Amino acid sequence: MTAPVNKNAAAAGKIALDAPIFDATAFRLNDEQAGIISRARELGQSVFAGRAAAYDRDAKFPTENYKDLHRAGLLGISIPKQHGGLGADYQTYALAAAEIGRYCGATALTWNMHVCSTLWSGPLADELDMDRDMRAEHERRRAIHYKRIVEDGVIYSQPFSEGGAAAAGGVAFGTEARPVKGGWIVNGKKIFASLSGHADYYGVLCTEIAEGEKASRRNTLYLALPAKADGVSVVGDWDPLGMRGTVSRTLLFKDVFVEEDAALMPRGVYFQAAQRWPHMFLTLSPTYMGLAQAAYDFTLRYLRGEMPGTPPVKRRMYPTKQIAVAQMQIKLEQIKATWFQAVTEACANPSKEQVLRAYAAQYSVMEGANEIATLAIRTCGGQAMLKSLPLERIYRDSRCGSLMLPWTAELCLDRIGREALYEAGETDD
Ligand SMILES: Cc1cc2nc3c(=O)[nH]c(=O)nc-3n(C[C@H](O)[C@H](O)[C@H](O)COP(=O)(O)OP(=O)(O)OC[C@H]3O[C@@H](n4cnc5c(N)ncnc54)[C@H](O)[C@@H]3O)c2cc1C
Repeated sequence: MTAPVNKNAAAAGKIALDAPIFDATAFRLNDEQAGIISRARELGQSVFAGRAAAYDRDAKFPTENYKDLHRAGLLGISIPKQHGGLGADYQTYALAAAEIGRYCGATALTWNMHVCSTLWSGPLADELDMDRDMRAEHERRRAIHYKRIVEDGVIYSQPFSEGGAAAAGGVAFGTEARPVKGGWIVNGKKIFASLSGHADYYGVLCTEIAEGEKASRRNTLYLALPAKADGVSVVGDWDPLGMRGTVSRTLLFKDVFVEEDAALMPRGVYFQAAQRWPHMFLTLSPTYMGLAQAAYDFTLRYLRGEMPGTPPVKRRMYPTKQIAVAQMQIKLEQIKATWFQAVTEACANPSKEQVLRAYAAQYSVMEGANEIATLAIRTCGGQAMLKSLPLERIYRDSRCGSLMLPWTAELCLDRIGREALYEAGETDD
């Protein structure tokens, strides 16, 4: 169980900090990792938790949280140290993001889009093949992006969904980049683009296509389009069930010129990453790992009569409540174990077993977070689902996880079933 780590602080009128979701000693994390993860947890609990209800109610982007993330160095969490970032690896980022998700789902999910711009172009790209010249050019270009983030607190987003089969990885992206002198002209549309209207750069996945050429996934480009560039517009409203603070509206690109240095990855490297570094698509899950923990934390506090803002009524003595808590704890530990293993072993060229485990981890977290939240509402009862308390928001936010492409819960099931039964290239003919 997670319990407050500092009861004296509560007595002194200060906030008692929660214990980490993954205890550093038990999960064998080093001091540097534990420090970064604590930084995220403390900011989440002491600041973001208090703001989350308003962002959710108004479907408003958490701008203030981003200023705090910048001040805490967390906008550059995965930027290599030589570029002024914290140099966090994949696992450290995932554990820190889970702690943010525990207190504000929308902040964690949008922070993920931002961080992936640096994680994919940073530690992940370092494990991919590039010749010397390409590597040098990538190093020069990413330095431009990283400097903006570290020094100016600039925010990146990651719109790839288009409403067709591209986001699931089936076909080439319909958003096209036509090569011109000094860069590209981009045309297209992205739906559910979190941070729309709030990011400074949209990290757009698109297909490079010359006149008369056929679109191919191999020619995917990953370009940072300035939000203020001519031809970029944000349209449509945003009034969803959950994750309301993500402000995931529609982006339109009409003849947007973007210069060569906008490339977050060199030509061909995104396609290589998608083939060889599949855990890059597991990065939406940490937010929901945090939400699963949050639903459990809420239930313990509520049944113990310790939920701030509610009368100190204890409900923990009923055997049915105890059984429900036991079921939640078992589910949570199952999710944590699978997910921790998957984020720890993320690497280039994973084995088949590791890839299947990554799908299983994604499925377990995305479905499990909502199952725990559902059980929490049933167990805590009617007063616990009022909008004055965070549980109903946790429940709605957690419902969104299994919808997220490319690894929706359905697609994970499809892939696990198929890839477990067939070796690559195998057919029944
Ligand atoms: C809160 C929130 C924030 C988001 N933020 C972003 C963002 O920042 N950037 C971004 O790019 N996207 C984002 N998304 C978009 C998300 O990944 C989906 O693209 C979006 O939910 C729309 O998907 P859909 O279910 O309508 O897609 P559809 O393509 O209509 O798919 C419907 C369902 O069919 C199944 N399906 C789809 N394709 C296949 C297939 N080939 N084979 C079998 N089954 C299939 C899937 O299970 C899917 O859930 C966000 C979504 C949410 C909910």
